Amino acid sequence: KARNGHEPEFIQAVQEVAETVIPYIAQHEIYNGKNILLRMVEPERLISFRVAWVDDSGEIHVNRGYRIQMNSAIGPYKGGLRFHPTVNASILKFLAFEQVFKNSLTTLPMGGGKGGSDFDPKGKSDDEVMRFCHAFMTELCRHIGPNTDVPAGDIGVGSREIGFLFGMYKKIRNEFTGVLTGKGLSWGGSKIRPEATGYGTVYFAENMMKTKDESFEGKTVVISGSGNVAQYAAEKVLQLGGKVITLSDSSGYIYDKEGLDKEKLDFVMDLKNNRRGRISEYADKFKGAEYHKGKTPWEVACDIALPCATQNELDVDDAKVLLKNGCKCVAEGANMPCTAEAVHAFHDAKILFAPGKASNAGGVATSGLEMSQNSLRISWTREEVDERLKDIMEDIHDSCIEYGMEENGFCNYVKGANIAGFVKVADAMLAQGVI
Ligand code: NDP
Repeated sequence: KARNGHEPEFIQAVQEVAETVIPYIAQHEIYNGKNILLRMVEPERLISFRVAWVDDSGEIHVNRGYRIQMNSAIGPYKGGLRFHPTVNASILKFLAFEQVFKNSLTTLPMGGGKGGSDFDPKGKSDDEVMRFCHAFMTELCRHIGPNTDVPAGDIGVGSREIGFLFGMYKKIRNEFTGVLTGKGLSWGGSKIRPEATGYGTVYFAENMMKTKDESFEGKTVVISGSGNVAQYAAEKVLQLGGKVITLSDSSGYIYDKEGLDKEKLDFVMDLKNNRRGRISEYADKFKGAEYHKGKTPWEVACDIALPCATQNELDVDDAKVLLKNGCKCVAEGANMPCTAEAVHAFHDAKILFAPGKASNAGGVATSGLEMSQNSLRISWTREEVDERLKDIMEDIHDSCIEYGMEENGFCNYVKGANIAGFVKVADAMLAQGVI
């Protein structure tokens, strides 16, 4: 805390892990006296750099770029890039730290990292985004590579940005390699990668519900966000017979008591991915839908809640409202969307709660599958990748049960995910010595 006291999000993420992992370390001789957690919280490398670029009117702008290379004990650094004005070292360190455990849980050989910039793509032209991405990559390319560090997308970095970033990497390094994931299908991307985080979150929740002999069929589902994760979580819920009644963005949420259907979801995908519009337009377009400006969807009664927007978007007051309204299952699609107090409230009420590092790991797992396909220079079918994704989500669920099941029959998925993720990385670090 003395070293990182000015980084609240990072402290929050570390505290959550420490609460469950420190007692485990104390009970297991091999980790005693090795300061293993202290080594894990210090990034192996933290890179910060200037990104200068020129806008359409010829004005020069300067943003700050980052790459946090957190832990490479079990594989090359792997984790997304986030472009958002709120990006700072604390947020990226929290994300990189979470990523280490998440990647370990996927069963694939990937270390953890995260990066990005305080650049805001909103309101920028395609050309401006391209110039920014190219400028960003001219520096980042020194630090990454298919066997060193393989970035991907995150908030504000979708297929358009990955394309611009990949193009500049290829030009400078003069090599076509799987240095980024989330690529287009015709140039090395994997099928199902765009869908993977949202689908995976729903597969994970489905596994949780199975432990209570329940399913998505006929359940009312509240989703926040309307970006990549939210869109595909909604799609999978619909396929499994659930009813999605909300979506949101940073301006407010829409409530559609009839529930979304394919046509409505197609409208949202076009609105957000092509026209880059606001979710409020949904209520203008579809009769009966309501728009609640400046609010979050947690006040709407539901069986299942899937927070898929951003960190700390669901606090303890929201948790209490969800519980009062009968919510029985919360699975995080976003990274750390629930505050620590909200998670405690869910645990106290003994409902099903999945932390993002377990439930949203399907995205990075499929990125891992993209890396494998790139190395083999082959492309698996949609069905093959989806089957592997389903299996991985089931394996992660099993690991959470193995380490998180309590004597009273309640599964603490936070504890399960933290310990299962920790063990693999810690064992590799011990084997490799003090480096
Ligand atoms: P997108 O940029 O596609 O969408 C983000 C969504 O969240 C948008 O609807 C955005 O609204 C909303 N949002 C962003 N910031 C805020 C805020 N401060 N308050 C309320 N809403 C906000 O990102 P993704 O869908 O890719 O990512 C969403 C979350 O999932 C993030 O936490 C990310 O780290 C996590 N994640 C993503 C993975 C992936 O594969 N994409 C993998 C694993 C985790 P607006 O348009 O108004 O900004």
